[in-house]
Amino acid sequence: MTDIQQLDERTVERIAAGEVVERPASVVKELVENAIDADADRVEVTVEAGGTEGVRVSDDGVGMDRESVQRAVEQHTTSKISDIADLEGGVGTLGFRGEALHAIGAVSRLTITTRPRGGDVGTELVVEGGEVTDVGPAGCPEGTTVAVDDLFYNVPARRKYLKQASTEFAHVNTVVTSYALANPDVAVSLSHDGRETFATTGQGTLRETVLSVYGREVAESMIAVHAGASPADRRSGERSDARSDGEDLPDGPLDGVHGLVSHPEITRAGREYLSTYVNGRYVRAKTAHDAAIDAYGTQLAPDRYPFAVLFLDVPAGDVDVNVHPRKMEVRFADDEGVREQVRTAVEDALLREGLLRSTAPRG
Ligand code: ADP
Ligand code: MG
Repeated sequence: MTDIQQLDERTVERIAAGEVVERPASVVKELVENAIDADADRVEVTVEAGGTEGVRVSDDGVGMDRESVQRAVEQHTTSKISDIADLEGGVGTLGFRGEALHAIGAVSRLTITTRPRGGDVGTELVVEGGEVTDVGPAGCPEGTTVAVDDLFYNVPARRKYLKQASTEFAHVNTVVTSYALANPDVAVSLSHDGRETFATTGQGTLRETVLSVYGREVAESMIAVHAGASPADRRSGERSDARSDGEDLPDGPLDGVHGLVSHPEITRAGREYLSTYVNGRYVRAKTAHDAAIDAYGTQLAPDRYPFAVLFLDVPAGDVDVNVHPRKMEVRFADDEGVREQVRTAVEDALLREGLLRSTAPRG
């Protein structure tokens, strides 16, 4: 093993792309985030065979002119921050790394069709395995459609690692659902193999969005969680008519815990119906999920889990959301404090509705 060689640029790119693009759901996540960052009112996601055959995300956002779309697929190009100072000030957009489109283009056939708002020409750009193979004018509506075909066609090891379509689709569904719930003011739809899975209206409250996504029984059972301060800037409808301060929250890292949780009898066999957002950003926060489940005490049947949509408000600096671009795991400086606050907030909501028979003493 004395022959140490420099990897060629294409190989390095494909390895790096694997950090961003793990499976169809990671493509969907990046494209939906881009659509929301582009100020879209409508985001349509369609996938074939769980996304393994094709992913298409269409938005009516700001769009791009020809020069911008050509820049957008290069590495580390973003319109969202310009230097590290912007990053330290706290980013207001979901993306900022400028690597998603480039990475997706390196491991698929990527077609972007886009027209800027108010612009009179559209552009279509095709990237195949990291190479721009076509760019030219195209007739298209304002906004952007990104199609990703043949994911991992040039990385056979990755392609082989993809699960069956139904499993990949379950991951896609979780991602799109999470963004739909966090953005009741955006009409989000998801279709799989030509059939619509759900569509939100984009004009709803959080509860109405839950209705579109999870159905009537779940939506009608949901109980409002409203603890601590409500920040001024809310993306979610239901809380606009809420008082600015909710029920008491024990001292801890969170300023507020708001959202909806299901009736103890409305449950599922898996934990994928627990969604948490930290300062509006969708994250996987196991601590918060465990705490919410804990709050139900003995009211949950064994191996059954509630629905929950919980928005945690954390003062900037007390949370590191930048742990990993893909995993979306979040790290709290004071994990125990968060656990206690979320458990109390959910417990208080259930108690208020008379849904907890007895409570263990707190402490
Ligand atoms: P990031 O989101 O981190 O900036 P991306 O690679 O995802 O990086 O996107 C690169 C750039 O392409 C974005 O900063 C944005 O300017 C542009 N872009 C991507 N998707 C869209 C879209 N749907 N509508 C408008 N512009 C977009
Ligand atoms: Mg992005």
